[in-house]
Amino acid sequence: MKRRVLIVYAGGTIGMQPSDRGYIPMKGFHKHLDSFFRARGLKHLPSFDIIECQELIDSSNLLPKDWTALCQLLMQHWDEYDGFVLLHGTDTMAYTASMLSFMLQGLNKPIILTGSQIPMMEARSDASENLIASILAAGNLNIPEVCILFANRILRGNRSTKIKSAGFDAFDSPNYPWLGNIGINIDIQDPLLLSKRVPCYLAPSFDQDAVAVLQTYPGISTNILTAVLDQPGIKGLILQTYGAGNPPDANKDFIKALEEASKRNIITLNITQCTYGAVSQGTYATGATLNSIGVVAGADLTLEAAFTKLHFLLSQNLSVDKIRQKLRTPLAGEMTV
Ligand code: ASP
Repeated sequence: MKRRVLIVYAGGTIGMQPSDRGYIPMKGFHKHLDSFFRARGLKHLPSFDIIECQELIDSSNLLPKDWTALCQLLMQHWDEYDGFVLLHGTDTMAYTASMLSFMLQGLNKPIILTGSQIPMMEARSDASENLIASILAAGNLNIPEVCILFANRILRGNRSTKIKSAGFDAFDSPNYPWLGNIGINIDIQDPLLLSKRVPCYLAPSFDQDAVAVLQTYPGISTNILTAVLDQPGIKGLILQTYGAGNPPDANKDFIKALEEASKRNIITLNITQCTYGAVSQGTYATGATLNSIGVVAGADLTLEAAFTKLHFLLSQNLSVDKIRQKLRTPLAGEMTV
């Protein structure tokens, strides 16, 4: 039986058109997709259907509630298809890929996110290569994961990050090898894949204000930190520190503010500002300070994975201790322990 793929268009450059203010998503893009494929002939592709989301966005406008809607849409069609392709803007694609990997754990079929740097309707677009490879991967390959496929790379979604604003090779997964390489053949590194399990959909109701991100910089004022920690509704902070996870611990007020936040059950997850490598709280005395005040070391999580993981766990009605424990444990291959 011919394998079946569902393509969901959520927005992003791939389906955008020019306007007098710059690119905007184009309603009815799915019809262009359809004629694009018809013109090329569909012989070697799995059969597919296309759904266009009601509200198409530039993904810089993505909100946590959009993840719930996307997940529900995928779940609604889960049993009808062998794989899924989500056309998404590149700006926040790594956030959505990470969040989907937490909301839909134990997948038994692929969810492939892709898009393009140049709209599909323009000359020199990278869209068709990304799209056709994604449909083939979603329909024919045994990848039980949420992935980003872009510029001939297949990456674990929750390890991915956008590294180039203009290059076609816009994504990489700095702390985990590529799951696959696309050339004449599509080579998948099977030993790197997650194992197939029984998919379970963990339906969160997100509180948009629950998580904030703050990066340390030389001379950062404690007032900035306390302003963030005093925001109404805040339950978690992603703190992006230097190198191996080192904060400016000579600033005693800064450390005290973090400690007080811990006592108020605000969870701080420490990740590194470096693209490669992990947090190791204790290599330096500056970082060791964080171990004694309840700050969780975020290993080699990307910012996108750290942010979505904390958001996801906070939406699950878990105790603060349980969340801290789960932050230290991989849920979907997002970190190295
Ligand atoms: N701003 C666009 C978006 O993220 C960029 C892209 O898709 O490449 O929706």
